[in-house]
Amino acid sequence: MNTPAKNDRAAWITGPSAKCSVPPKDRDRTWRIVLLGAPGVGKGTQADLLAERLGMCHLSTGDVFRAAASPCNRERTPAMVESLRYMREGRLVPDSTVWEVVRERAGCIHCPGGFLLDGFPRTLPQAHALEELMNSEGITLDGVLDFELPIPEIVARLSGRRVCEKCKAVFHVTQRPPRAQGICDQCGGKLVQREDDRPEAVKLRMEIYERDTAPLIEFYRGLGKLLSIPATGSADEVFARTLAALELAVTDGHLRDRFPHDAIVGLGIRRRQSDELL
Ligand code: AMP
Repeated sequence: MNTPAKNDRAAWITGPSAKCSVPPKDRDRTWRIVLLGAPGVGKGTQADLLAERLGMCHLSTGDVFRAAASPCNRERTPAMVESLRYMREGRLVPDSTVWEVVRERAGCIHCPGGFLLDGFPRTLPQAHALEELMNSEGITLDGVLDFELPIPEIVARLSGRRVCEKCKAVFHVTQRPPRAQGICDQCGGKLVQREDDRPEAVKLRMEIYERDTAPLIEFYRGLGKLLSIPATGSADEVFARTLAALELAVTDGHLRDRFPHDAIVGLGIRRRQSDELL
């Protein structure tokens, strides 16, 4: 059986001058989702699984900056060169530059295939800018998935993470090892440790997350968009919880913390941050 071609995300990764050779297919339902969660919580893995199942593109701002950092990229603007310095140090790229990158790619936000935003927004000004863009275009978010995990577990995950240089598939030296050491199962590319997964950068990224990104949880809760997903256990378990939460949110018609209690018992979902897991 042929596996379906993956959306190639060319317009997102390269910029608006590129045309996607494999655009997302029309679906019964267009999903527009934002992923939240500390670095290393497994957002990238969940994004790949969700994109494959639901058909939208996985749009990561980190992937855009990493593509710009690649030695083959000779068309870097001065703002992009400056951004890469921030990225290597594990600091956030300034909002104005990130917004320029996203605004240039607004076609991906409008795309009928939908989107899964990963790593954006990451600050309140970015979240406000995205809301404004979407409101002005009459587009609404289906939900914001917030993956929750204790900090020591996150640090262990980050230090063992390896990423394929070529197709960006994510592995872990112990929890999700590739079949052959150092080689990507999917495309045979070389697996590397991201510069920002090194210990000094990880410490800084966690501090920055707490200060700049964690406030987005309350922002999206206030908009009635937040779905908290416990990110403990295997990637498949987290994925099952995520799908169940999305399905309930859609069946219920809205996300404003009103899931019927009986329907979610046993799925490990909580309706409010302070609640026990159901
Ligand atoms: P990520 O792959 O999402 O962890 O992103 C890697 C790095 O890219 C981050 O540590 C930041 O330096 C930069 N970056 C990606 N997205 C953003 C964003 N929305 N705002 C600021 N910096 C970002």
